[in-house]
Amino acid sequence: MKKYNFNAGPSILPQEVIKQTAEAVMDFQGEGLSILEISHRAKYFQPVMDEAEALMKELLNVPEGYRVLFLGGGASLQFCMVPFNLLEHKAAYLNTGVWSKKALKEAKGFGEAVEVAASTNSIPTDYDIPQDADYFHITTNNTIFGTEINDDKLAEIYRKKGNVPLVADMSSDILSRPIDVSQYDIIYGGAQKNLAPAGVTFVIIKESCLGKVSRYIPTMLNYQTHIDGGSMFNTPPVLPVYTAVLTLRWLKANGGVKWIEARNKAKADLLYKCLDESKIFTPTILDKEDRSRMNICFVLKPGYEELQDDFFKFATAKGMVGIKGHRLVGGFRASCYNAMDIEGVQALVDCIHEYEKLH
Ligand SMILES: *Cc1c(COP(=O)(O)O)cnc(C)c1O
Repeated sequence: MKKYNFNAGPSILPQEVIKQTAEAVMDFQGEGLSILEISHRAKYFQPVMDEAEALMKELLNVPEGYRVLFLGGGASLQFCMVPFNLLEHKAAYLNTGVWSKKALKEAKGFGEAVEVAASTNSIPTDYDIPQDADYFHITTNNTIFGTEINDDKLAEIYRKKGNVPLVADMSSDILSRPIDVSQYDIIYGGAQKNLAPAGVTFVIIKESCLGKVSRYIPTMLNYQTHIDGGSMFNTPPVLPVYTAVLTLRWLKANGGVKWIEARNKAKADLLYKCLDESKIFTPTILDKEDRSRMNICFVLKPGYEELQDDFFKFATAKGMVGIKGHRLVGGFRASCYNAMDIEGVQALVDCIHEYEKLH
């Protein structure tokens, strides 16, 4: 049976990328060696790391003066690396959910960390950004509750921030739409949602933002170390970086972020329309402008809640994978990352319609 992978992360990758990764595990570029057993210092791997950085820069239109790093530790390590490297006196955070809150908690260990506004089911706009902050931190997509900062609200943040450096966790919506990188000092994220298997973290960093804090920064936690080492100060996560390159090539060959944005919008519109019109389901995010295109959360309407397990079984039997909602939200969550095609979302919509007819 065909499986439709709606997992929240690690999550779906393009089939051809998985196939090419498997081939490289058996024989890397016809060298007679597996990618698992080559040295990262060997002539084989440097071009991979170079291409990973170059394609990220090309696809996201990254301006001069920035580097793209591929590190270990996940987005969660960035929650502490960002304040370690940038927070001297005060930082400001927009709290739009579980991941923002975790980022904010880490910052509190390094200085004053202000929460300017908080909401899990909409994107707040009624706040000011303290102009004396060392940086302002946002999470562009709230993976767990299913909200996303849309382009208009991002533009408003760009206006409001003045000269305050902007830092963003884009773990779950990187490369899903064009983004104005020049507005940011740091963009980071775990690659296991839109880019690669688990094990690598991307960091897009403006080189001039470093060197402004007075504390000692441990070598491995210092961005400068990884800039100087070209992401190879120590052994990089070789296989996930290679898969990231394959995903980036796939994206480029198909038309880049403009193409994927249109496809992601079409997918989200299709599923939200089905849920808005449903008699038994409802999306959990009611503010249409704040709805995530990546993580679409929905629940059974009052009176139908007892169907929870039954629908889950029904959908599973139809090949739907990973649609259980996060335990904090309950219900269901369909993660529709870049690699999910419109046919996959249509299959879920058909499954919902079929289930409705039975009830
Ligand atoms: C998944 C996720 C994280 C956590 O990433 P790790 O790589 O597991 O540390 C952080 N932020 C957001 C927005 C996420 O979606």
